[in-house]
Amino acid sequence: MTKYIFVTGGVTSSLGKGIISASLAKLLQARGYRVTIQKFDPYINIDPGTLNPYEHGECYVTEDGAETDLDLGHYERFLNTPTSQANNITTGRIYQNVINKERQGDYLGKTVQVVPHITDEIKRNMRILGDSGNYDIVITELGGTVGDIESLPFIEAVRQFKWEEGSSNAIVIHLTLIPFLAAAGELKTKPTQHSVKALLEYGIQPDILVCRTEHHISPDIRKKIALFCNVNINAVIESIDASSIYSVPLLMMKEQLDKTVLSKLKLPAKHEPDMESWKDFLGRLKNPTAEVKIGLVGKYVELPDAYKSISEAFIHAGAKNECKVRVEYIPSESIYPENVKEKLGHLQGVLVAPGFGSRGIEGKIEAIKYVREHEIPFFGICLGMQCAVIEYGRNVLGLKDANTTEINDTAEHQVINMMEEQKNITTKGGTMRLGAYPCDIKKGTKAYSAYGKQHITERHRHRYEFNNKYLAQYEEAGMIASGINPDSKLVEIVELKNHPFFVGGQFHPELKSTVANPHPLFVKFVAAAMEHAKKKTI
Ligand code: GLN
Repeated sequence: MTKYIFVTGGVTSSLGKGIISASLAKLLQARGYRVTIQKFDPYINIDPGTLNPYEHGECYVTEDGAETDLDLGHYERFLNTPTSQANNITTGRIYQNVINKERQGDYLGKTVQVVPHITDEIKRNMRILGDSGNYDIVITELGGTVGDIESLPFIEAVRQFKWEEGSSNAIVIHLTLIPFLAAAGELKTKPTQHSVKALLEYGIQPDILVCRTEHHISPDIRKKIALFCNVNINAVIESIDASSIYSVPLLMMKEQLDKTVLSKLKLPAKHEPDMESWKDFLGRLKNPTAEVKIGLVGKYVELPDAYKSISEAFIHAGAKNECKVRVEYIPSESIYPENVKEKLGHLQGVLVAPGFGSRGIEGKIEAIKYVREHEIPFFGICLGMQCAVIEYGRNVLGLKDANTTEINDTAEHQVINMMEEQKNITTKGGTMRLGAYPCDIKKGTKAYSAYGKQHITERHRHRYEFNNKYLAQYEEAGMIASGINPDSKLVEIVELKNHPFFVGGQFHPELKSTVANPHPLFVKFVAAAMEHAKKKTI
């Protein structure tokens, strides 16, 4: 029988519910439990696929092609197990399901209401992963902050769920903040008391409080929180600011969050969490023997969350190479022929990021020209790969107006164009080429030396592709297709033969990089940057 843990947030947003959920899941997994995490988001978009990255950070794509919240990336990076559409549900999806059912006549004769129809649909979705039989424990993170109008139906659904399942089968962890008032020199518990009161008003007594804090919480303060919030003293968990999100599982282990959870769920502790390989990763992360500076050229760089999976993939690949990777975020719009040397000349590697639309695209192309000519390691992802193809077309093949149809649909040389099956699609949500597709790697290429195998799969999120009409011309001129989709023959990876490291992928490798499995292309790219650094110092 599956047990359920709900994680709610109080006092303020951005406390890191995703990291706490992932850390707890990691510890339970390391004790031998089969665990998954799902996120319920209270906004009305069906999924975050149509959101501008500035709104909500990166859109994370799962194996089955769901466009989801970036917290799912944390779940996968921590647990090293894939998530799916069922792991991310929004208010929009709940309402869509209910309205579809209403139209089909499923509620014939009834008035369809928030309670019970919306709350029932929420509970049904909360149970889907548990009902699959694949998990002992399902952790459900509720987006938003308790007290928000939007999250009310979710909170009510949790209350009912807990009542239906019983207190040892469904528990609530409330993540809250204990602010430090510098003027008073004190940690303050009142906001936490108020936020627990808000939960109580909705009929939910939290079982465990995880308290975010900048300073250690004294036993007296723990006692005070326990007393006024009506929880056991060992259910007051300190979550102190950490230098890395990857330290949080160990901090939670020290606080015995996993043990407390298991005892509340009446599950055996089995054995101490086996965190050896995690500690090994942290050891390498915290004791690098080299350092490289890599530029991330993109159009959303003011908000690093827009590139969350890329920056995490650099952390994994850096640890693997025992190298500190300093990522310098460079707005692509700021790059011109006159300043490109000043912008990029000091870097040991440049990654050109994914993106949509024309803003900043010429800066990306300029950056690629510079790193190609100066033999600085280059890694292009999705739009970054497409820009590399455009740059090579314009400056090496002499196709002067080479472009992507996305930017110029009247260009003579549309070296990147829309796939046939995309041409008749007019709606936006969930209609791109999404999710995992197979790719065959050519032996003897840089891609092969990274992956070490011929058949791989990678996740996609795009509408445009390499135009195969130009493939022979490109290959003759030195840009080869080292990865091809075996079914559609679409070009998935391009690379240059005569360059230390110049690789572009039509897919998003960053989405598959985890602590246990750093992505091979990122690992090779960082290694190439380290080589470049050595060359410079000789
Ligand atoms: N805009 C490009 C496309 O749709 C690239 C998308 C991306 O970088 N994810 O093909």
